[in-house]
Amino acid sequence: MNNNLQAQTPRVFYEIFIRSFCDSDNDGKGDLNGITSKLDYLQDLGVEGIWITPFFLSNSYHKYDVIDYKSVDAECGTMEDFENLIKEAHKRNIKVLIDFVINHTSSEHSWFLEAQKGKENPYRNYYVWLSPAQIKAKGIAEREATADSAEKQPWHWARKGDDEKYYGMFWNKMPDLNMDNPKVRQEIYEIGRFWLAKGVDGFRMDAAKHIYPDWESEKCHAFWVEFGQRMEAIKSDVYIVGEVWTSAEKIAPFFRGLKANFNFDLCFAIQDIVKTGHDAKDIVSMLIRNHNLFSKENPDFIDASMLSNHDQVRIGSIADGNIEKLKLAANLLLTLPGNPYLYYGEEIGMKGKKPDENIREAFIWNKRSEDNDRTNWRKPVYNTDSKTTPLKFQIADENSLFNHYKKVIALRKSIPALAQISPANLKKSSISNEKVVSFIRPHKNGDVLVIQNITNENVEVLVKERIENVFFSMKGSNLDGQKVKLGAYEVIILEIE
Ligand code: CA
Repeated sequence: MNNNLQAQTPRVFYEIFIRSFCDSDNDGKGDLNGITSKLDYLQDLGVEGIWITPFFLSNSYHKYDVIDYKSVDAECGTMEDFENLIKEAHKRNIKVLIDFVINHTSSEHSWFLEAQKGKENPYRNYYVWLSPAQIKAKGIAEREATADSAEKQPWHWARKGDDEKYYGMFWNKMPDLNMDNPKVRQEIYEIGRFWLAKGVDGFRMDAAKHIYPDWESEKCHAFWVEFGQRMEAIKSDVYIVGEVWTSAEKIAPFFRGLKANFNFDLCFAIQDIVKTGHDAKDIVSMLIRNHNLFSKENPDFIDASMLSNHDQVRIGSIADGNIEKLKLAANLLLTLPGNPYLYYGEEIGMKGKKPDENIREAFIWNKRSEDNDRTNWRKPVYNTDSKTTPLKFQIADENSLFNHYKKVIALRKSIPALAQISPANLKKSSISNEKVVSFIRPHKNGDVLVIQNITNENVEVLVKERIENVFFSMKGSNLDGQKVKLGAYEVIILEIE
């Protein structure tokens, strides 16, 4: 990655599920002005980029089924509110990514309302239609449920008397677009141009893996190359991150077109460590292998890292609310290579398990009786005043999870070896002890050694690398010459020669 792009890439992102984050007008639902009112908070936390989940006209609470891509759903605010959000975010050096959902539209989108009228309709070919006989002949009547879609019967009737079904791999209310149709591609590029002209810095591409159906998935890679080129022609430094929910091997070819992709293997490996206290997947070797796969496809790849997102069990629940374990998770996310994304509420230890609504609960800003910002679109199951310490009280507590996040984010940004995004700098350390995860982040300005105790027991390791300086230690007295002593879940971050 050239120095210019490196300098422009936000070093820490934050995903905002808009309905749950902050309510500015007391209708119970989060909105754009709510986000704007919390930009100072995000800047204080150290965030340099936000990803906002969809706010376009839609019938669903999550808005991943879009009815009008160039609109703002009234419950989220107005276009003016969005423009103001961009302006205020940029004032604070916070970049804005919007969720771009192009695998499918809502079944209420005008294109689909036209398409379902019949075979002769000019919009018919915007979607994927086949007759039952064709579906049978291709052997594609059923699909296996995947982590991202439970739908096993992806072919749906639009209306009685039709002789073709349409493909909707997530849901019958979300018909898949037909990317083989050049008109559909033009529509999508135009929507991209529209939002880039509004000042957005890039996109998070929903369901990027599924842009073509499973039986022609190879076509996805070429599509993303074209998409990337079109968007870069409009904005040369556009940041595009793909949701390709699969193994690193299968993610790799997506880097041909997408600058960044989320690393699901890494996410689950960190979750396993938090859950079990064992590094069964050898996370450092796994990442080095991942990076090699990615760099063969694109030497400038950005490995987007996370602990969880709006589709997964919250890390707070995986750690069973144990704050020390949550600090361990934060330490790994924020000291390993990659371009980290926090999911809103992780920094205060919010919990949540499936179904999805329960991992999208209201952010707890203050105690209930004084919280004018809290959303209340549904009754929370996992996050109430008694279960999650409100942000306001965590800010005042030096040892809170929030202040830990803030410290480690600041550290990541201040040390070049930790801040480096591309190329991903990582090598194994000399330490071999199954109670710790340890690695080196090499950099010309100084190598950094991270040693993280992943267990609830004390551990002592001997460091062979020559220790120059302690950048960070949680309790302050871990070092005895070349010997490092770590209490349960403690980390030490060292400068080495
Ligand atoms: Ca509202």
